[in-house]
Amino acid sequence: MRISEIFYSIQGEGRLVGVPSVFVRTSGCNLRCRWCDTPYTSWKPEGKSWSIKNILCEVARYPTRHVVITGGEPLLAPDIADLTVQLKQRGAHITVETAATIFKPLAGDLISLSPKLANSTPWQRSRGEFAAMHEKHRLNYPVIQSFIDRYDYQLKFVVDQKKDLEEVRAVIGQLQNIDVSKVMLMAQGVRHEELVRKSQWIVASCQQYGFSYTPRLHIQLFGNRRGT
Ligand code: SF4
Repeated sequence: MRISEIFYSIQGEGRLVGVPSVFVRTSGCNLRCRWCDTPYTSWKPEGKSWSIKNILCEVARYPTRHVVITGGEPLLAPDIADLTVQLKQRGAHITVETAATIFKPLAGDLISLSPKLANSTPWQRSRGEFAAMHEKHRLNYPVIQSFIDRYDYQLKFVVDQKKDLEEVRAVIGQLQNIDVSKVMLMAQGVRHEELVRKSQWIVASCQQYGFSYTPRLHIQLFGNRRGT
């Protein structure tokens, strides 16, 4: 499968924030978020082909059992399920980070679902050539529900402005059996000061609705750098 990078860092987002983890980042995405923080996996995908055997060898170099499979959109990779099964057989705890537009059965311990809100649509970027495609695919309720029904999950929304909260609530309203404490709000932004500023109203919204707040700890610690 096409891999953009494999690196060892700490999980910066979600329920496992702070846990040392190996990140396996696939390249290629079926969306084009205007604010994508990994454009080298979406707008200008790069990377080389890795066999599952080589990925397993690389992952085994690091002193943690936590593996985060991320992207891009990792569910696009034809052999992603096989990779999760083989990691699981080696005792890994597997988090899969996905925009939840594609369902496949996986051997995942935590599925980090990040459906994209309207704030992600690239109406201006690249003269809007990807906007219609992005709009069509960014929310897929049957896929989100399939993951929620089968796996431990977190439902992570990137919010940019206060008005995004109504959209988050509307999306949740379309889903069944949601544990609101697993709904996580995260600020859009790749600069620490920007995240701190937005965190004020985001935390207040979490308190109001029972959602959880997630920081972007890797930005705070390392800045917006690859390999962190
Ligand atoms: S889904 Fe993720 S990788 Fe794909 S364009 Fe959006 S932010 Fe980037």
